[in-house]
Amino acid sequence: MTTAADPNPNKFPALISGAQNSFTCQRCQMTNSRQIYWLPSHVYYCPHCIGLGRLTSQDWLVAYPEVNAFAPVAKPLAWQGTLTSAQRQVAGELCQVWRQQGEHLVWAVTGSGKTEMLFPMLQQAVLHRDRIALAAPRIDVCTELYPRIQAAFPGVSCGLLYGSGQLKYQYTQILVCTVHQLLKFRQAFDVLVLDECDSFPYLNNPMLHAAVKQAVKPHHTLIYLSATPSLEYQQRIQQQQLNYSLLNRRFHGHDLPVPRYQTVGFGKTITTNWTLQQHLKKLVQQQQRFLLFVPSIASSEKISRQLTYVLPTLSQNFVHAKDPQRVAKVAAFRRGHWQALITTTVLERGVSFDNIDVIVWQADNERFNMQTLVQIAGRAGRSAQYSNNQVTFYGHKYTRAIQQAITTIIELNHG
Ligand SMILES: [Zn+2]
Repeated sequence: MTTAADPNPNKFPALISGAQNSFTCQRCQMTNSRQIYWLPSHVYYCPHCIGLGRLTSQDWLVAYPEVNAFAPVAKPLAWQGTLTSAQRQVAGELCQVWRQQGEHLVWAVTGSGKTEMLFPMLQQAVLHRDRIALAAPRIDVCTELYPRIQAAFPGVSCGLLYGSGQLKYQYTQILVCTVHQLLKFRQAFDVLVLDECDSFPYLNNPMLHAAVKQAVKPHHTLIYLSATPSLEYQQRIQQQQLNYSLLNRRFHGHDLPVPRYQTVGFGKTITTNWTLQQHLKKLVQQQQRFLLFVPSIASSEKISRQLTYVLPTLSQNFVHAKDPQRVAKVAAFRRGHWQALITTTVLERGVSFDNIDVIVWQADNERFNMQTLVQIAGRAGRSAQYSNNQVTFYGHKYTRAIQQAITTIIELNHG
């Protein structure tokens, strides 16, 4: 995708036949079997990237060479905030990375202001007329990031692209998009920032890893951002294959809230657990807003219904990945609608609300791994004024994930 004014696109077949009845998709680089993925009339198709529109053996792909046709902007960065000295250090390191090109990881705790740390580097890149993509695995992260980037760089063209997005694609200097959307680009970006690089669905997904690699130009700057880098990144750091910047303090300088663990008796539900009910009643009295994390879509709806009976005075709603109202509900909660939002791990990261307590129900469920629990705990205490928000994990079993999450947070606080 690029400007339609460009007269010289590269055109190539969407699917290329290989040995033993296999074929490789030129959009997502996945290899499949012709015997399985065929349609009547002996046409075959790629099942992997079908979410972006079905590609068959009769289709062609078109790639326009990236020409960086952007109008110069004298002072692109309008952001008036100040970076803390720790943020400034990382921002300076990123500017250095951009000058030299290459890959770099920013390991920054939740709420440390990692977006703002990117601004000086992004400004350099904009002035240089680089084309920039800010990609994240999840839609919620993109929709939260987009207005912040627009506000920080008001004179720079900026687009937002995700699967069910309403905005029509336009050629812009900055693009905020989900990682899936990168499959539509080929050698397009000089700078690619991959936010939440340790999260589903990017993690361990070869198609999305290929998407990142083919979306950048041969000479590029690739910045990974994470609060909880996966083992893969940690190993690359140890083997000196990847440089990184570490920021273990939130921008307001206060500690991360350390989660409290509360045992739940076997078989207790949200309607029969006395401790949780007392806890929720107290929050209602104090009018303290909170997120209640639960392990599944079904339980988010069920628990929301149960709370309507148990605590009728609590204004609440639920949200999950398959909720068609998901984006609107998150926006409404941010504007102050409802005291509580019952949610699955869909809100574990990338979203920021002021003054929120956090409760995890069934924290011992296998859906809650160590990284997820650290991210969830990171939703609390994000503003300086309310840095002492409470985080409580309710579980029947004190799992290794719970123990490691609590230990990790304590260690990060001690620097
Ligand atoms: Zn494909």
